[in-house]
Amino acid sequence: MSLHNLDNLYRQTIMAYAQHPHHYKPMLGTEGYHIQKYNPTCGDVIDLAFNMVDDRVTDIHFYGDGCAISKASASMMTDLVVGKNRDQMMQLVDQFSKMARGEASDVKSLGEAQVLAGVTKFPTRIKCATLAWHALDELLSVEK
Ligand code: ZN
Repeated sequence: MSLHNLDNLYRQTIMAYAQHPHHYKPMLGTEGYHIQKYNPTCGDVIDLAFNMVDDRVTDIHFYGDGCAISKASASMMTDLVVGKNRDQMMQLVDQFSKMARGEASDVKSLGEAQVLAGVTKFPTRIKCATLAWHALDELLSVEK
């Protein structure tokens, strides 16, 4: 498989997630955790919210207006962390941040989100890919 085809496969996966994002629904206003993040470089806005029950995330969902990469990334992230506890989520955030910076990372733990490793070649898109993960990171740093 040539690199061109590989890039194509990544692009198709990203577009599929962006067009039919998982866990995409408006905020209810009753979630235990909620944050809005904005990426001025691209104009992406994302709301992320979830509840924690017995240290595990439930009802995670996101909403907002953004480019395909930001939506796909949020979609993949929510798929990945559902049912995870705080430590597991912080580990995933760490792995994803490393991958986005082009550092060695346990990409297998990131599931589908590892296709976003391709964005590290495009510095302006890194903020699109990491937006949802920064939102999660900030919510996890809040003590409840
Ligand atoms: Zn973007």
